[in-house]
Amino acid sequence: MEYAGPVREALLPYGKQWLDEEDIEAVVQVLRGELITQGPAIERFERRVAEYAGVRYAVAFCNGTAALHGACFAAGIGDDDEVITTPITFIASSNCVLYMGGKPVFADILPDTYNINPAEVERLITSRTKAIIPVDFTGQPVDMDRINELARKNNLVVIHDAAHSLGASYAGKKVGSLAHMTMFSFHPVKHVTSGEGGMIVTDDEHYYKRLLLFRNHGMTRDAAVMQKNDGPWYYEMSELGYNYRMTDIQAALGHSQMGKLDHFVDRRREIAGAYNEALSGLDGLVLPFQHEKSDSSWHLYMIRFEQGKFTADRREIFEAFRENNIGVNVHYIPVYHQPFYKNKVNEVVHCPEAETYYQTCITLPLFPRMNEHDVADVITAVLKIYKQYYSGI
Ligand SMILES: *Cc1c(COP(=O)(O)O)cnc(C)c1O
Repeated sequence: MEYAGPVREALLPYGKQWLDEEDIEAVVQVLRGELITQGPAIERFERRVAEYAGVRYAVAFCNGTAALHGACFAAGIGDDDEVITTPITFIASSNCVLYMGGKPVFADILPDTYNINPAEVERLITSRTKAIIPVDFTGQPVDMDRINELARKNNLVVIHDAAHSLGASYAGKKVGSLAHMTMFSFHPVKHVTSGEGGMIVTDDEHYYKRLLLFRNHGMTRDAAVMQKNDGPWYYEMSELGYNYRMTDIQAALGHSQMGKLDHFVDRRREIAGAYNEALSGLDGLVLPFQHEKSDSSWHLYMIRFEQGKFTADRREIFEAFRENNIGVNVHYIPVYHQPFYKNKVNEVVHCPEAETYYQTCITLPLFPRMNEHDVADVITAVLKIYKQYYSGI
């Protein structure tokens, strides 16, 4: 079938939230109550996520970026400490290191999963390396056995950026239980949302206490750790913390959404399966590779138009999707390309796989509320654009 006009009339975004009446009612209940911040909804949400991930502790933050900042604080990252992470991620994964005065070091990605390459991590470890921040890109867990082994050998902290991978598992274990600390984000494009929001989950009581302190100005009322006690009003600030608290309004929404997480992830897997089936076997079109050890929660569905096989470059292909009202995106620009990083952070970065990846990647729309027509429109657009530009060489 040929289409003269755009494949669809209205723009299909690459991701968005799915809220129902139950979610709205949960928020309204908090609004009608006494406490809209620092009330009981936070703890309920934290307990639910900790239980889901199978760990003891969870600390909610006002967003995922603040949560990563907290994890870097708890890990004790300070001036000139090096932290190894991937360049194919959102800037927050490495900005959190800069907040603490540390230095992000970028390890190249694997050409198949686009996740950080453990061999590159190993090559970049120095006596100043303090932590590793692996990112489960697109929702597919990193090879955490290898990352954890490197961390054990070199005495490093692992902060797992699982903004994409809530609901995913690795070697049969839920993401959240695979590192010293794991961060989830509840931004509306992520698996479940609280408007803005983030959380660190951990099994380590020491980190847990540091995270609580950091989230609340570095203030404590714990008599056991205070230097003195002037009376019932008294508190002490022992560390430089921030106001990074989540509101109960947000926590109520997040808690309600957690009840739908498994359903959302199933629906994402179903849509990814439909894309895989419809788009496989086309020369030059690279579909997502799934590692046998991991069960992705499919935050993103990535395709690549191989260089040299098409008469258009990625920019032209990207624009063709947008002209068809398919809200494609690019995830991500290698972080070290950012002017701030060029000017202030990097010496020489050598990540040829990240460069090749960035030249060719396109993110297709994928979110649980897409209906069968939306899914069919995306497939139609990919096939239309493929046919239009494939050079057959
Ligand atoms: C979304 C995201 C974050 C930051 O989360 P926010 O809640 O938006 O602050 C960090 N890392 C990655 C990989 C993300 O996708």
